[in-house]
Amino acid sequence: MSENLLLDATHVAYSYRGIPAVRDVSLTVSPREVVAIVGPNGAGKTTLAKMLSGVLPPAEGDIRIDGRSIAGMRPSKVPALGVGIVLEGRHVFPGQSVLVNLELGAFARKLKGAALASEIQRIFGIFPDLERCADKPAGSLSGGQQQMLAIGRSLMGAPRILILDEPSMGLSPKLASEVYAALASLRDSGLAILLIEQNARLALEFCTRGYVLQYGRIVLEGPVADLREADLVRKIYLGSEAVAA
Ligand code: ATP
Repeated sequence: MSENLLLDATHVAYSYRGIPAVRDVSLTVSPREVVAIVGPNGAGKTTLAKMLSGVLPPAEGDIRIDGRSIAGMRPSKVPALGVGIVLEGRHVFPGQSVLVNLELGAFARKLKGAALASEIQRIFGIFPDLERCADKPAGSLSGGQQQMLAIGRSLMGAPRILILDEPSMGLSPKLASEVYAALASLRDSGLAILLIEQNARLALEFCTRGYVLQYGRIVLEGPVADLREADLVRKIYLGSEAVAA
């Protein structure tokens, strides 16, 4: 059954100094699918995102990209399988220009000259704001622009699946919706997306299927229409709206 799955995580677990953060999580993403993982603070979302993108080795279970296990693989090798990760906190190189940040995203592809320039133009097409500040140091950009740059840099690696950890975190509702508008164009172009969000309202509007994580476990999963009706999710909605207000 793992044929045709882009991402297939089975029974993954991770503990910090013996304290479980993620327990027995299994989830899948098919090509072109847009899947949400929602859950409150401390539910284990970031730990799971790091495992799924190869940054953190699971203590138990297995993660397969296109049927190939990433167990034992160096984190730097995982993007070559087609996994793009945008970790929580908008990781950019603050002292480097926007352009250099984007170029670094394509480092493993060894793109040069016209091919590199055309990839950068593709990203500028998705995030026109980045073109306007191409020569500015990334650290001088607004929070929303830095998030766009972090996403753009990840796209420079030509992923087939983009894993995003809390892309709306710390952004005003207006900036969050700008970031989500760009993500929608990627979704509509057929890129598979795994969206990890505390803001369940945003994530469940954006995706077609989702998982709810609580205390490190998946407690609910299914089409977003079903999840939106679940009492547990309604509580999370209220939580995230209170945070956004
Ligand atoms: P948040 O939205 O607050 O980032 P989260 O759902 O992403 O939460 P994680 O950051 O994965 O959750 O944390 C899951 C659990 O693991 C929490 O109890 C957290 O305190 C703990 N934890 C996370 N990172 C570490 C660490 N480096 N050392 C020890 N405990 C950690």
